[in-house]
Amino acid sequence: MSDKKILVSGVKPTGRPHIGNYFGAMKQFVDLQDSYESRIFVANLHALTSIQNASELKEMSQGVVEDYLGIGLDPSKTTLYLQSDVPHVAELAWIFNCLVTMPTLMRAHAFKDAEAKNKEINVGIFDYPILMAADILVHDADVVPVGKDQEQHIEMAREIARKFNGTYGETFKEPKALIIDSVATVPGTDGQKMSKSYNNTIPLFASDEEIEKAIMGIVTDSGQDIPKNVYEIHKLIRSEDDLQKLYRDKKGQYKELKGILIEDLKNFIQPMVKRREEKSGEAQSVITEGGKKMREVVHNKMKEVREKVGLIHHE
Ligand code: AMP
Repeated sequence: MSDKKILVSGVKPTGRPHIGNYFGAMKQFVDLQDSYESRIFVANLHALTSIQNASELKEMSQGVVEDYLGIGLDPSKTTLYLQSDVPHVAELAWIFNCLVTMPTLMRAHAFKDAEAKNKEINVGIFDYPILMAADILVHDADVVPVGKDQEQHIEMAREIARKFNGTYGETFKEPKALIIDSVATVPGTDGQKMSKSYNNTIPLFASDEEIEKAIMGIVTDSGQDIPKNVYEIHKLIRSEDDLQKLYRDKKGQYKELKGILIEDLKNFIQPMVKRREEKSGEAQSVITEGGKKMREVVHNKMKEVREKVGLIHHE
């Protein structure tokens, strides 16, 4: 398609994206869309492991496409598509399933965490790293911008590429995770990793009231000169030089500092909310086009894979 390197990533439609998703991964999608050939998907097959309600999944998936448009992804530069519109990835995941061993998957942090918490683990959750490897490898992706929590999954994708190549001959490129240290794990309002499942998020497309509620709810420890949890979120949107002076001047004045953070966040979020509203009407045609384009792009790769593993390919 072009000489540019290929960038692939996605977001699960399992809840509203938060500023941890944005700074950890989604912002890079926008910042890099001119320099890479970018393919960004809505991970709706992954979401099936936790959402088993059709209308909810459809609505959330459409929502993520609108989010992508809202943050400034430009469909003329970045192909946006639904994971399920490229069914080749499910086929490739099956082929990888037959190569990868159970102990390899049992090493995955996400699986180990779920097991430690005694959660009911469906096979989809266990198999998550395999589907993710298929999502990436089918594109011969060069880079995958993600947060730190996905680092191990990218390492597994590299391992799977090596295993396939070792078994069937050189076929897949080993992708690199693109993780920015300063935002590798964005903390939530309680200081733990910001996560859709911890009730500690600041939604990326929050209303003014939601911003106020989330920031006023930030956990602070009265013994600190600088309220660490407020500062850590503030530094995502303001320079550290600026903030060090501000937090020195307002030492111990938590409420005032939270008020400033609220105003800064509103100024940061409002333009994205506005763009999301303006662009939402385009979402449907954008994903229809994107899916069509991606099916054509991966068709040849899958033809090569089927031949290599011995599945006879009929056009
Ligand atoms: P998900 O919604 O789980 O598909 O996450 C989308 C992207 O956001 C992935 O690349 C995650 O690694 C990233 N991400 C999720 N939570 C955080 C966080 N607290 N800090 C940095 N990146 C994150």
